[in-house]
Amino acid sequence: MSANVIGVDMGGTKILSAVIGPEGNILGTAKVPTKADRGPSVVIDRIADSIRKAIDKSGVAPTSIEAVGIGAPGPLDPATGVVIFAPNLRWKDVRLKDELEARVGFPTFVDNDVNVGTLGEHVFGAGQGFQNVVGIFVGTGIGGGIILQGELFHGASKTAGEIGHIIVKAGGPRCGCGTRGCLEAIASRTAMTKQFRKAIKKGQKSVLSELTGGDLTAIRSGVLAKAIRLNDKLTLKVIKKTTKYLGVGIGSIVNFLNPEMIVLGGGVVEALDDTFLDDIRAAAEKYALPNTLSGVQIVPAKLGDNAGILGAAALARQRIFND
Ligand SMILES: [Zn+2]
Repeated sequence: MSANVIGVDMGGTKILSAVIGPEGNILGTAKVPTKADRGPSVVIDRIADSIRKAIDKSGVAPTSIEAVGIGAPGPLDPATGVVIFAPNLRWKDVRLKDELEARVGFPTFVDNDVNVGTLGEHVFGAGQGFQNVVGIFVGTGIGGGIILQGELFHGASKTAGEIGHIIVKAGGPRCGCGTRGCLEAIASRTAMTKQFRKAIKKGQKSVLSELTGGDLTAIRSGVLAKAIRLNDKLTLKVIKKTTKYLGVGIGSIVNFLNPEMIVLGGGVVEALDDTFLDDIRAAAEKYALPNTLSGVQIVPAKLGDNAGILGAAALARQRIFND
């Protein structure tokens, strides 16, 4: 099989499209702003445009393109390619697959962006060669994806993998989903920011005040990395808590599913050094049953920002043969 596929990573602010060769080689890319405020139809026009641009840049013949894969924010139905609800884009019941197929003429396959990122790591990144892999991505929120026997697992309502909403502290902080004590409500960058803000408001000194110019509304991963290098007491304290609760979550996942590998990615993880992973593993040891962690590798994601396009390409390749 030597044909090429298109991988599309569709985010709230930008769309990244790429022509991907059979070995996962990136042959050409195009990035355009999403312009979500102009509505679904315009956004899908822009995806089609970015695909044409990526093909143009790659220099491959359009006839060599076999299919398009897209990672989209979601809950969505991977079978029909309908995005059920995407608050960032203000989308509701958008027929992304059909609409894009009508514009570009290639068979198109859609899945949730975090699932697609996990698939990318499984096929081309840290999870290569492993059949049962859980991906956990820590950023503004916490997303997850599950690969079982080499394939994405979706569950009855297509919502499997919502690792950010497993309860790690019953009655704990309120989560965006409406309940309390979710992993995301304690260990995401948003949750960490809240803890920083609260402590600083109470009078605790921190280099974060300087590094953010006093704007503590959104602490970026780069700022976090800097504060760690400066040994900032507050930052280290909040990270210790984050590590603990990621350990609680991972311990539970290991007890329940015992995957061969857990891939940890996302902006927060990328900002932290390797000792962070060791600390998470040590925390998970406390909550996993004896010997359940022994066969489980906990590793950092390898693909960074390319996980989306590479995973979308892997999705297109898998689905065109299986569907
Ligand atoms: Zn939640």
